[in-house]
Formats: sequence, structure tokens, C-alpha cells
Amino acid sequence: MDPRIFAFLCGLTLVSVMVAIYSHLCTKAGKLRGPLILFLFLTASGLYGFVTRVHFEPVSIDEQTAMIDAWIVIYMLAVSIPLIAALFVGFITGRVHRVLARWKNNSKQLGDKTAQADYQSTMDQLLPKPRGKLSEKRALNDLTWLRVGGPADYLFQPADIEDLQHFMKELPADVVIFPMGVGSNLIVRDGGLRAVVIRLGRGFNGISVEGNTVTAGAAALDAHVARKAADAGVDLTFLRTIPGSIGGAVRMNAGCYGSYTADVLRKATIVTRQGEVLDLTPEDLNFRYRQSDLPDGAVLISATFEGSSGDPEELHARMAAQLQKRDETQPTKDRSAGSTFRNPAGFSSTGRADDVHDLKAWKVIDDAGMRGASLGGAQMSPKHSNFLINTGTATAADLEGLGEEVRKKVYETSGITLEWEIMRIGDPLKE
Ligand SMILES: Cc1cc2nc3c(=O)[nH]c(=O)nc-3n(C[C@H](O)[C@H](O)[C@H](O)COP(=O)(O)OP(=O)(O)OC[C@H]3O[C@@H](n4cnc5c(N)ncnc54)[C@H](O)[C@@H]3O)c2cc1C
Repeated sequence: MDPRIFAFLCGLTLVSVMVAIYSHLCTKAGKLRGPLILFLFLTASGLYGFVTRVHFEPVSIDEQTAMIDAWIVIYMLAVSIPLIAALFVGFITGRVHRVLARWKNNSKQLGDKTAQADYQSTMDQLLPKPRGKLSEKRALNDLTWLRVGGPADYLFQPADIEDLQHFMKELPADVVIFPMGVGSNLIVRDGGLRAVVIRLGRGFNGISVEGNTVTAGAAALDAHVARKAADAGVDLTFLRTIPGSIGGAVRMNAGCYGSYTADVLRKATIVTRQGEVLDLTPEDLNFRYRQSDLPDGAVLISATFEGSSGDPEELHARMAAQLQKRDETQPTKDRSAGSTFRNPAGFSSTGRADDVHDLKAWKVIDDAGMRGASLGGAQMSPKHSNFLINTGTATAADLEGLGEEVRKKVYETSGITLEWEIMRIGDPLKE
């Protein structure tokens, strides 16, 4: 064989092997852009070489035909066949599917963004114009105790009751609202909340005491209510160590040390989704363990409690002792949302003051070896294993993921299915 043809074939084989290896490595890594650019580059440079050769050095028709034939063979051997072979292997191993799925997902996200923009502009037209503060795309992380959470579509902080009523009345009925307290029992997921979050502030935090009856706005903090009641000789001491608001206390039937909101509540006042002010009785609220029934979309604006009489000094001393007990047994300095899981089913508190439960969530978590377990910035507190804490860098996905891992481990070790006590709301972050 002519040594020049031999050298040429060797060179061609080398190029084709290199193209094949490169294309294969790229598809294996899930990157198709490299081989495609190489493909276009080699095609374009081949065409360019061919055209300039014919253009600058006129050749006969026969020679042109021979060149075209040669070019096709070279092109097929060096570019097309190795590339197609690499892509074929990619398809068989599923790599290409993955890349295509990612592209599809990207265009879906683009579609989602367009849909979101459409939704936003429609909402801008539909939302009533309140006197209070209405913020768009408001991050919720700084409004929750765990310091996690993506944005709410809107956050509304009404100026007063009339403002809230007007807003609720004018708000289209299909817009979801989520009333929020101080976020001490919430994990808001990283993708945020597709809703109008309503958070009550200054116009809703008044506290008044008359005899043994204490009326508090829904935004008043439980601790303030307990202290003010104690000053007046009324025992609502159990509220002192619960870090939520009165709205959250009624909704969650908050309680501790054997007392529950259900035990002392006499009346709850709400603004309905239609904007009407309505009084509810304890029976209407149907209190259960960490739960009560509020009409759909209603916002609680105030609650009236009746406590037993007590000596103010003695009530304050009791609260100080309870605080101290909390500090000794719970990670009160860490970012948490209180108890993560209910005490196991069959052993759960019913909400009655005389209720005693034998099997504690912290015990089964300990038995599963999950005290101190962590995921990302989330940790099951070494101090109290039923407290899920944000050590500083946790995302909602870390916290929820760790909680789910704990549930799985507890189930594996004891056959018990733990139920979340912390409410988890919103959407996970899209990939
Ligand atoms: C360190 C720590 C200790 C805790 N200890 C206890 C404890 O001993 N006992 C206990 O019961 N809980 C405890 N918790 C949990 C939490 O404090 C309570 O559940 C509290 O009642 C939640 O109130 P919130 O205002 O933070 O409500 P959020 O967490 O903001 O919301 C909780 C629920 O209440 C609803 N809600 C809030 N405000 C309103 C409103 N105005 N109208 C309608 N719905 C409303 C929300 O929609 C949501 O469904 C603890 C939490 C922490 C962080």
C-alpha cells in the first residue's frame, strides 16, 4: 500500500477514535453540547476545505466527483459514525434520556415562570387595595421560629379589623389565604407558599382583664397574656412558656403542664372568609389534641379566656419556675418549633388536663439512636431528642428530610409511626 494512503488511514482512524471517545465521555457525563459543537465544527470545516479547494483550484468534473466521494467517506468515518455510535451507547445507558429530560424540565420551568408572571399580573388586578401593608413575594423565613421558608405570593398585614374585613370580602373567593401567627409551629418549605398570608400585628394585640375574664387580640403573645393575667390575679400561667400568639394558641389548642387552651377558652372571635365578624363557642371549635376547627379561610382576631383566681406573686413565681424547667430540659436557646412529633398514637394526649401519656416521642427517638442525628444544617437536639433544630444553615428540606428519616428509623426499630406535630406548609424548591 502507498505509505501516504497508509498514513492517511492511520490519521483518520486516530481522529475517529478520539471523536468517539470524546463523544462517549460527554454523553456519559450527561453533556451533549460538546459532541454537537464538535460535529458542527468538523462538518463546517470539511465543507469549507472542500469549497475553497474547488473554488481556488479549478478541477475537472471527474476530479470533483472523486473529491466529493472521498470527502463523504472521510466525513462518515471521522465524524458521523463515531458520533452516532457514542450517542447510541448514550441512549442505551440512559444518559441521553436524562439530558433530554433536563432540557424538557428547563423549558417547563420557563413555562412555569411565564405562568407565574401571568398569575402575578392577574392577582395585582384582583387584589383589593388595603390600608395595611400588602407585600408581594415576601420571604417568610424571618417570620418563622425555625428561620426557614420561601416566599409567600403575598403577605398582608391589616391595619385594623375593618381593613381585614374589607380585604377578605373583596378578595376573590378562590384565592387561598393562610393566617399566620408568629410561626413557632411551622416549617414553611423552601419553595414558599402559593397563598395570601395574613399576619396580624399591632392593631390586634390588645389585652384587657375584667374580673377573671381576659380578652386578648390574636396577635398578642401568649407570654404577655399570661403575665398580664397574673398581674391581675388570674391564672393563665400555662401560656407563659409557649412562644406563640393567641391566634396560634386557639388554632393549635396549645397547652403544657396539664393545662390546655380548651380548658380556659370561653369565646373566639373570627373574621370569616366573606369578611364578617363572628363569635365562636368552644363547642364550635371542637378542640382536640393540638387541633381545633376554624371555618375555612377564617382569621381569628381575638379570644376570651376565663382563668381561676390566684395570688399574683404566687402566679409569677410559678411561671418563673416553669421557665427554669424549660431551660433545663429543652433547647430554648436554639431555633426550633417545639415538639416535632406527637407522643405515639394510643399514648397521645387528648387535650384534657388529667391526661397522662406513658410513651413519649423523645423516648422512641432515643431508642432509635436518633438523638443528635443531623442532616445538612438540621439536627435532632442533643438536649431533647423530640426537638428539631436549625443549627444555623438548615433549609426547610433539611429539617423535613431529617424528620422523615427519624420517622423511618423509629418505625424500623419499634414499629411505631410517629406523627408530625409541627405543621409543614408550602412547596418544596423546584430543582
Ligand atoms: C421552643 C418552643 C416550645 C413550644 N412549646 C409548646 C408547648 O409547650 N405547647 C404547645 O402547645 N406548643 C408549643 N410550641 C408550639 C407553638 O408555640 C404553638 O403551637 C403555638 O400555639 C403556635 O402559635 P403561633 O402564633 O406561632 O402559630 P403559627 O405557628 O404561626 O401557626 C400555627 C397554626 O395556627 C394558625 N393560626 C395562627 N394565627 C392564626 C389566626 N390569627 N387565625 C387563624 N389561624 C391562625 C396557623 O394558620 C397555623 O395553622 C412550642 C414551640 C416552640 C418553638
